[in-house]
Amino acid sequence: RKGTAVITGASSGLGLATAKALAETGKWHVIMACRDFLKASRAAKAAGMDKDSFTVVHLDLASLDSVRQFVRNVRQLEMPIDVVVCNAAVYQPTAKEPSYTADGFEMSVGVNHLGHFLLARELLSDLQSSDYPSKRLIIVGSITGNTNTLAGNVPPKANLGDLRGLAGGLNGVGSSVMIDGGEFDGAKAYKDSKVCNMLTMQEFHRRYHEETGVTFASLYPGCIATTGLFREHIPLFRLLFPPFQKYITKGYVSEEEAGKRLAQVVSDPSLTKSGVYWSWNKNSASFENQLSEEASDADKAKKLWEISEKLVGLA
Ligand code: NDP
Repeated sequence: RKGTAVITGASSGLGLATAKALAETGKWHVIMACRDFLKASRAAKAAGMDKDSFTVVHLDLASLDSVRQFVRNVRQLEMPIDVVVCNAAVYQPTAKEPSYTADGFEMSVGVNHLGHFLLARELLSDLQSSDYPSKRLIIVGSITGNTNTLAGNVPPKANLGDLRGLAGGLNGVGSSVMIDGGEFDGAKAYKDSKVCNMLTMQEFHRRYHEETGVTFASLYPGCIATTGLFREHIPLFRLLFPPFQKYITKGYVSEEEAGKRLAQVVSDPSLTKSGVYWSWNKNSASFENQLSEEASDADKAKKLWEISEKLVGLA
């Protein structure tokens, strides 16, 4: 049978390129988990995806109710769930003021981390009950949250501190909107959320890999400088960023190539190792990359897990 992969944020950029790459193999059905139904189905059509190769299901990660409703809806499709890819993200580098999810969390961490945390926790039992040979839960990471790299050292750097802002509810009411308790900074909030993504993947691995046989993985697909992720950046940045990444840092990767990389993490029979953060070298060969000290801190991962459980109503 075909495999079924849920991909969040499959309406553009990396998520769409991955959906297309998987659909083209003829071996995958993609559940496109998107907040804008029409945009997602138009994007799939424009990408040339066969209409039988995907199903769009509404998911707004900025609402925990929407996440729970998505899980119910997806179960009603009565398709097995073999792979889940937590890919969607918001990035608000120029925001002066924080914005909030329906549950009152600062938006970047609320969508990128907390929404995905609840989704992944809910769908774990579905993954576990699938009979697919290699079941996987993938959370897209980033180099920018990784302070052991050059890109990760561009200020403001990711830093979760002692997680006091998160423990306080990340809502700006009696607590900070930043995980570490600091002043709002949209670029830092994004980087912090990516550290959360990488820590969450490892904590899933420690808690559930042996018990469930699910492979947990994260990745940095390369700098896909052309995606919508940078839509809120100033125009000059958007003009200069792609050539800068292409010719100066040489970290640039096309959406198509990045989609192939993520599709590999979804389906390649040789990438079954759990707990790995995948990266690719200049020749597009995958390798197991090292995470920064903070992004591989097991105590922090445990603490993050426990606080996140409380915030999303699982504990
Ligand atoms: P895009 O902005 O193109 O894609 C982000 C996707 O997330 C869109 O489909 C968007 O939906 C969706 N999304 C945003 N908010 C929500 C929400 N509340 N609920 C549901 N979906 C939502 O960016 P990329 O493709 O670049 O980003 C994909 C992933 O890749 C992210 O995890 C990012 O951190 C990561 N990444 C990107 C890099 C890059 O260089 N671009 C580098 C490293 C990692 P909509 O279409 O409706 O706006």
